Amino acid sequence: MEHYKFSKSSEDNLEGVHPDLCKIMRQALILSTVDFGISEGLRSKKRQLELVAKGKSLTNNSRHITGHAVDIFALPNNTISWEFKYYQAIADIIIELSKTLSIEIEWGGKWDDLNDGTHFELSRRKYP
Ligand SMILES: [Zn+2]
Repeated sequence: MEHYKFSKSSEDNLEGVHPDLCKIMRQALILSTVDFGISEGLRSKKRQLELVAKGKSLTNNSRHITGHAVDIFALPNNTISWEFKYYQAIADIIIELSKTLSIEIEWGGKWDDLNDGTHFELSRRKYP
């Protein structure tokens, strides 16, 4: 069966990201009916502080700094879309996989403050 593959830049953005999170993202892409890419994985402390200053992140202690989080972008019809329905569809697959693979994942699309459908991270409980 034909399925989507990460571009070179998405693969580069997975560098330094926890292997369990990479695994789940790769499998999700194979199963997904919506193409997606990785916009950011590992993040420097300096960049995190800049994002907080701009109000784009609420914590200095982001999971991106330790390689426990990734941000994705949906690519329906080969074009980037920020429509929530695409992120919901991708998240459904990732949440299903997280149960099958016993890799505990949190989705930013479920957060009340600064709801972020692009963001997935390994749970702090299982991956401190
Ligand atoms: Zn993020």
